[in-house]
Amino acid sequence: MKCFFRLLLLITCLILVPHAKAGDLIVSRAVLEDVGGTLTIADVASREFQPLGPSLFKGITDSVHWIRLRVRAPANGNEVVLFIRQPFLNEIRLFEAEAGDSPGWKTRVTGNHYPFSERERGRHSLGFVVNVATPEATFYLRLKTKSTSQLTVLALEPSEAERLDDHFDLLEVLFVTAMLLLLLWAIQSYLLDRLRVVGLFAIHQAVYTLFGIAITGYLAPWLPMDYPQLVELSSAIPYCGVAFTTLLFCRELFKPYEPPPILMRGLNLLLLLFPLQLVAMALGYIPQAVIVNLALIRVSWWYFVFMTFFLRKEQSPNRRWLQVFFFTITLVFTVFWFSSSSLNDTGNSLFGRQVLIANGLIIGGLFAMILNARSRRLLQEVQQSSMNLLLAQKTLEIERTLKKKAEEQAHTDYLTGLCNRRHFFELAERELARSTRYQRPFAVMMIDIDHFKTINDTWGHSVGDLVLQKVSQLIRDTLRSVDIFGRIGGEEFAAVIVETDGSNAVEVAQRLCLMVADARISPREGVCVQVTISIGVTAMNGKNLSFENLMGEADQVLYRAKQAGRNRAMASEYCAA
Ligand code: GH3
Ligand code: MG
Ligand code: MG
Repeated sequence: MKCFFRLLLLITCLILVPHAKAGDLIVSRAVLEDVGGTLTIADVASREFQPLGPSLFKGITDSVHWIRLRVRAPANGNEVVLFIRQPFLNEIRLFEAEAGDSPGWKTRVTGNHYPFSERERGRHSLGFVVNVATPEATFYLRLKTKSTSQLTVLALEPSEAERLDDHFDLLEVLFVTAMLLLLLWAIQSYLLDRLRVVGLFAIHQAVYTLFGIAITGYLAPWLPMDYPQLVELSSAIPYCGVAFTTLLFCRELFKPYEPPPILMRGLNLLLLLFPLQLVAMALGYIPQAVIVNLALIRVSWWYFVFMTFFLRKEQSPNRRWLQVFFFTITLVFTVFWFSSSSLNDTGNSLFGRQVLIANGLIIGGLFAMILNARSRRLLQEVQQSSMNLLLAQKTLEIERTLKKKAEEQAHTDYLTGLCNRRHFFELAERELARSTRYQRPFAVMMIDIDHFKTINDTWGHSVGDLVLQKVSQLIRDTLRSVDIFGRIGGEEFAAVIVETDGSNAVEVAQRLCLMVADARISPREGVCVQVTISIGVTAMNGKNLSFENLMGEADQVLYRAKQAGRNRAMASEYCAA
């Protein structure tokens, strides 16, 4: 991007470099307005002319303008090029005195409305090649055009005319290159971000580039000459289009700053002029549409300045920047608008062209910088918010995991991985409520390892722990996954056997006793521990007991099993089949 702007700056500087002044051979210029367009060369030759600067500006008028040029002979040879720059000159007729005994006037004709191939100079600048043999010769140019035109005439030696043509061509190439660079940047940037304002900028750039090519006469050779109005339309439409697209672009640019709605409505009204201009042009009022456009451009720019002071929201680039930007540009334009007639007297023929190009480049470049700043800021915001989102997601994930872990820890017995006492009671009570409601069978077991103290005393506490783990694992694997099994004390366990009545539960309990008694637990090489368990079983007895009471019952039965000699399962009276 930086590299791109540097290139743009370089091109701008090249365009603005003042050209070496061409050696103009015109001694004096004078003008005569022929309001009716009826005068002949014989009439005007004897009339009084008004002095004229290097260029003639004329408004919209049907008048014919006659320009008298007194040209001195060149130093080398006697060939002189009358070098004429338009923008728009429908027809220019040259009158030169015929030599000989019966002096008359020879005429030749050129103009934008004549096919490129028929013009005397095969370049984009119009003109005639004349002979000035005597120290001085007088020529008359008859200018007939309805458009507001600027006519600049220089009398140059052929080589000088060539050089000036090259200079104009080079300017055009630089201008088009720079404008296309901006256009490409805008298109690429639009495709990336899809920002409406960048899209409108791209359209504005395209229209301005077309306008720049058309107004300097480079488009005319490509247009069909059997409809000469096309030549004028080819620059009048882009000219009005420039004002229209500038308005569209600025309206979009200002939107995020939230200007007062009334000012936005004003902009919309100005935008409405474009379709009206198009209609006017279609009806043949091309010069009038152009004049209205000139006023529209002036009004628009001051309107933009006005708007920048009423923007209500801060954005990137900030409001102060916009105020300075629009005010400076508009001030420069205004100075140019109001001094253009005086510039005309002292300026050179390239000046208008340089202003046009500089205008396009500076405005385009600055707009591009504004947009670049804005899209960079947007990109940063997007990146920042996606980072924040990612961070928030990660935090949430970690919090969830931690919470889950904490919940698990709160529910789990650290040694055996079974439910702890509290969780066991929670699950069991929930299950009891369900079974009571649907009148389903429900049995409870209390399981205690026999003489566990002896194991601890004989093999040590760590072997005791291992025995606890192994026994609990054996029981867990034997029970169904729907059964609830937990460690409720040191070497005491409890189980809820769901959907099972007392007699079936006793069978399960006896199976458990046998299995544990058969198991061999080997904590280390050469050591083998054997344990037994005692189980007390009870079942829901229709008395609507609480789980606490059921556990109390099971505990009493367990006590009886211990009394009866251990390694057995005993059942309460409610377990009878
Ligand atoms: P009974 O057959 O009558 O149940 O005899 P007992 O020795 O198993 O019962 P008693 O209640 O006298 O002893 C239980 C022992 O369990 C006491 C305690 O040191 C031991 N114990 C409790 N919790 C743990 C534990 O987490 N790890 C180990 N290794 N021992 C424990
Ligand atoms: Mg015990
Ligand atoms: Mg015990």
